[in-house]
Amino acid sequence: MAYDFDLFVIGGGSAGVRCARIAAGHGAKVGVAEERFWGGTCVNVGCVPKKLLVQAGEYGAWAEDAAGFGWEIRKGPHDWSKLIAAKDKEINRLNAIYRRLLEGAGAKVFEKRAVFLDAHTLDVGGEKVTAERIVIAVGGHATRPHIKGANLGIISDDAFYLPKMPEKVAVVGSGFIAVEFAGIFKALGAHVDLVYRQPLPLRGFDHDIREALAEALAAQGITLHPNHTPHEVLEHDGRKRLVLTHGDTIDTDLVFFATGRKPATAHLGLDKAGVAMNEHGAVVVDNARRTSKRHIYAIGDVTDRINLTPVATAEGHALADTLFGEHPRAVSLENVPAAVFSTPPCATVGLSEEQAAETGPVDVYVTKFTPMRHTLSGRTRRTMMKLVVDHKTKKVLGAHMVGEDAPEIMQGLAIAIVMGATKADFDRTIGIHPTAAEEFVTLRTRTRVTGLAKAAE
Ligand SMILES: Cc1cc2nc3c(=O)[nH]c(=O)nc-3n(C[C@H](O)[C@H](O)[C@H](O)COP(=O)(O)OP(=O)(O)OC[C@H]3O[C@@H](n4cnc5c(N)ncnc54)[C@H](O)[C@@H]3O)c2cc1C
Repeated sequence: MAYDFDLFVIGGGSAGVRCARIAAGHGAKVGVAEERFWGGTCVNVGCVPKKLLVQAGEYGAWAEDAAGFGWEIRKGPHDWSKLIAAKDKEINRLNAIYRRLLEGAGAKVFEKRAVFLDAHTLDVGGEKVTAERIVIAVGGHATRPHIKGANLGIISDDAFYLPKMPEKVAVVGSGFIAVEFAGIFKALGAHVDLVYRQPLPLRGFDHDIREALAEALAAQGITLHPNHTPHEVLEHDGRKRLVLTHGDTIDTDLVFFATGRKPATAHLGLDKAGVAMNEHGAVVVDNARRTSKRHIYAIGDVTDRINLTPVATAEGHALADTLFGEHPRAVSLENVPAAVFSTPPCATVGLSEEQAAETGPVDVYVTKFTPMRHTLSGRTRRTMMKLVVDHKTKKVLGAHMVGEDAPEIMQGLAIAIVMGATKADFDRTIGIHPTAAEEFVTLRTRTRVTGLAKAAE
């Protein structure tokens, strides 16, 4: 049977754009549908605008810190609408680049929603389209908690378009989006309450990162409410009242729910195509990103494994190379580095101490110090660095950091860890002085051994 396309990609985000562009470059006849914005979450309401807002906040802190270095800088008020206008201009520029890249590669673009009619047929904005292979790259969306008044709060998409900076914000959640926005709002002048169910933020991260981040958030002046869950949001005196399950209330101008994301698989017609999902609505895939239908693939956040842009783009690229290029390849989800752009940022690669100790005893090296800049700035901002090392083989299993430049430092360390570096390899590497990064190659005194008791069981 002749199909309209060799490959049709649903979703023009990080995963879909890369897959469609590379497949078209390999000579395949490619169609790609995007219903909202080219570049998807990352470019429009995710990584890129988020980091611009983080950077906006940093300038305020630098202006204050400069006094310790002899500068007299008078910090004026921050103009939120000027920042948002500048951010929007940049996002529109990137948006257009993404569309141009696709068309330049020869893909046919549809600015429409696509849904399955059967396993080879899609309805693309009312037009019937057939394809030999189909890629699901629809990403995910933010969810609100199931509590009364939840629609009185905003989600991350809305935060990028607030008409003005509120005086007071209550952020609910403690995942990366919650702690990043808590830092942004605080740095740009709001009073911030951070409400979360766990005793420490960033569930799933290494315990020392979680502890160091909680200290850093408090040092930034954010009011932490650990072990609390939201119960209800009310309108109160023209403001919002967030009622917590313990009965405490927080009166605020804005409630921001950063309480989770969900794969965007609702009403996509996956049942008509025979594509299986798990209980959370994520498309189930094998290592080759193949779904329960052999000619339909799923990549990026819709598979809900490691929801990060570089994973989505790597999967899109590898799939296009495998299907239409000369070098089939797979993407490993082991040792994926990640960063949290909190204030200061966190970064991590490999196993946490807790995960590593499940596999056998580990040597742990931890250092905490005041970075050089803050010996003069007077700002309370500490750095934490940590290596987790296999007790027997001395292979470095994980590296973790909270502190300025952590994401930039971790990218380099990730190469060493992916290559299987040992502690001895770190030790024989000469440091760059004076930097914080040199601490990673001068950690000589073991802080503790973890998991010996478990290994003896
Ligand atoms: C606030 C925030 C901050 C983030 N920060 C970072 C970060 O710092 N670093 C990082 O690595 N990751 C970050 N992420 C995660 C990152 O944005 C995602 O991992 C990445 O965008 C996933 O790419 P994707 O292509 O799978 O999905 P998406 O980028 O979400 O793209 C999916 C696209 O599909 C479209 N679509 C959906 N259904 C249909 C349909 N039926 N028909 C047509 N089009 C459809 C959507 O409109 C969307 O554009 C952040 C996410 C958020 C929300």
